[in-house]
Amino acid sequence: MDLGLKGKVAVVTGGSRGIGRATVQRLLQEGMSVVVSSQRADSVAAAVKELGASGRVEGIACDVAVEADVKKLVAETVRRLGRLDVMVTNAGIADPYVNMVDMSVEQWDRMIAIHMRGTFLCGREAARAMRDAKIPGRIVTISSTSGKECEAHAANYNAAKAGIVGLTRSMAVDFAPWGIRVNTVAPGWIYTDMTTADLPPRGVPIDGLGALPRAGEPGEVAAAIAFLASDVCDFMTGSTVVVDGGQLILSPKMRW
Ligand code: NAP
Repeated sequence: MDLGLKGKVAVVTGGSRGIGRATVQRLLQEGMSVVVSSQRADSVAAAVKELGASGRVEGIACDVAVEADVKKLVAETVRRLGRLDVMVTNAGIADPYVNMVDMSVEQWDRMIAIHMRGTFLCGREAARAMRDAKIPGRIVTISSTSGKECEAHAANYNAAKAGIVGLTRSMAVDFAPWGIRVNTVAPGWIYTDMTTADLPPRGVPIDGLGALPRAGEPGEVAAAIAFLASDVCDFMTGSTVVVDGGQLILSPKMRW
């Protein structure tokens, strides 16, 4: 299916690794020009080197929790590539599991800053650029199944991901006057650097994890992100698309 993305411009935060990198690959395959952004300059450079053969790729380092960085990311994207059609707010972190009674304020603040402030800043700056250029763009945020259910000993992550669902709805309403659609993807367990310590190796069945007894691949999330970045789903905004192999639909007694 032609998603109609050819010739358009996307920014993917956290695009250097995992789900973000798979999203960059997918959007390049669709004919987009893509800005790979992540916190560490060396990580951005490595991704640009690897992905550059697949299409027009620019790299811009940016800490999504820092307003000046995000303003520069969007301004520099428009300067280098002429426009901004799609913003994917994917950058994120996970913490070691800890009961909330032992959680520090620093752990709380860092998690909320990267996920919530980062999504707020990237969404706001993208919408300003799209509004000013009269581009009815797309913003895709990344929540999690943890935003819809509760994972024990991860209060900061659960709250941040649930917050992103609410923030996505607010952006969908507030940016609608300019034709900007905003949706979120909620992945379940996906094989990335973030989860290697928690998951068995690929190929080992994980009975009870979901209707499908396995974790997902980054490309399987990227496919949903590409769909939401396109005009194919024009009547979707404020929605949450769950990509979890049937994790949330399974009754608790069957869970992994
Ligand atoms: P990952 O492989 O650990 O990659 C994380 C990415 O985020 C890296 O590109 C990293 O940049 C970037 N990043 C971290 N802090 C940043 C900051 N302050 N500013 C800018 N970039 C920053 O993670 P992933 O598993 O692909 O996760 C991507 C997103 O999906 C996250 O929002 C995560 O919460 C969400 N998610 C993941 C899963 C899963 O099972 N993996 C499930 C549900 C939701 P550097 O390379 O520069 O360090």
